[in-house]
Amino acid sequence: MSLLDHTHNPEAQSFVASANLAGTDFPLQNLPYGLFRRAGSNESARVGIAIGDQILDLRLAASAGRWSSAVQVLLQPLADGDLNSFMAQSASKRRLVRHALFDALAEGSKQQSALTACLLPQAQAQMAVPCRIGDYTDFYTGIHHATTVGKLFRPDNPLLPNYKWVPIGYHGRSSSIGVSGSTVRRPLGQLMPPGAEVPVRAACKRLDHELELGLFVAGGNALGEPIPMADADEHMFGVTLLNDWSARDMQGWEYQPLGPFLAKNFATTISPWIVSMDALEPFRIAFAHPASDPQPLPYLDSDKNRSEGGYEIELEVWLQTETMRAAGEPATRLMRSNFKHAYWTLAQMLTHHASNGCNLQPGDLLGTGTQSGPEASEGGSMLELSLGGKQSLGLPNGETRAFLADGDCVSLRAFASKDGARRIGFGECSATIVPAPQV
Ligand code: CA
Repeated sequence: MSLLDHTHNPEAQSFVASANLAGTDFPLQNLPYGLFRRAGSNESARVGIAIGDQILDLRLAASAGRWSSAVQVLLQPLADGDLNSFMAQSASKRRLVRHALFDALAEGSKQQSALTACLLPQAQAQMAVPCRIGDYTDFYTGIHHATTVGKLFRPDNPLLPNYKWVPIGYHGRSSSIGVSGSTVRRPLGQLMPPGAEVPVRAACKRLDHELELGLFVAGGNALGEPIPMADADEHMFGVTLLNDWSARDMQGWEYQPLGPFLAKNFATTISPWIVSMDALEPFRIAFAHPASDPQPLPYLDSDKNRSEGGYEIELEVWLQTETMRAAGEPATRLMRSNFKHAYWTLAQMLTHHASNGCNLQPGDLLGTGTQSGPEASEGGSMLELSLGGKQSLGLPNGETRAFLADGDCVSLRAFASKDGARRIGFGECSATIVPAPQV
């Protein structure tokens, strides 16, 4: 059953004029959730909705607006700044709030004057990590990334035999997740220099980004109770951009036999706005493994997953070096790819995670793994674009990069667009690298 409704009508406009501009990431059809406070204030963080270049402050809107009693009850945790409690609500209740906010912000809304008083320009807001992230897991669903990186680490055996059967992942760390606009400190770590026999402790020399999406879990499951594929959508809240910062030299030395550890857990950056699954509904696509590949085991398969389990989302990585910034030069785009190339769907990631009875909770974050495209120019990390550091990339101002330098600002961007739907964007996931501490 299609969940497309009047909130996906591409012709619908908002009384917030900036939401109607062609290039905006946040038209009326998007309505993503974020956590913010007024810049420079020490007020407690509050939940808001991005609309054009404004934020609808849900603490103010819950009392200033006129809402049905059912919606008023659902708005209360949002008014209290508690997105996790709202995430725990059923998909139908979350959809009820989307419809109420859509109608209230639409052109001709009777609520226009009351809600105009609840708007804050995004330029005057300081964004925060949008909810309490209890646990963070990072998957590895980008098969082109897995193959290219596998070749660099294991030339004879790039893709391990489990890859096409199991959505591979590892448990990451939630304490070091930061929101776009943060700085990332270059990590110190244990490195084995080329040709050396003894490792040293030094600043990472091969610092890298990874272009990923992050799926926020909605309602959780009880410990011991798997989530079947048929119920996966009910447990998905929305999607952000995610940069899984990676220290490749530390990773190469430490990753066997248990996988990523200190090469990954020093920082993860996410975009501030969670784009709901409802907003992404028009951009679903059919999903299949190639006929010559193993087909998913029954617990990872469903008719719905085959007919519309994928999502078509354009992804980009941009870089602005310190030298470019000082000269007033804009960021340059390093690559583009699309989430449609992922080898496993969001629903398969979630169902697999809970398939052994592991309990997921509202606000848990599941990274998709690096989303590289099939072409060499579509690598979602410097490791891929520089062929393991062997071939530096030329930048427009004559600088070169094999890996990232101090002062570099990496920005991830994403949007979904197609004929018959309003283009929606994800905002930015940016962070600037600052030097390592002195050893
Ligand atoms: Ca990753």
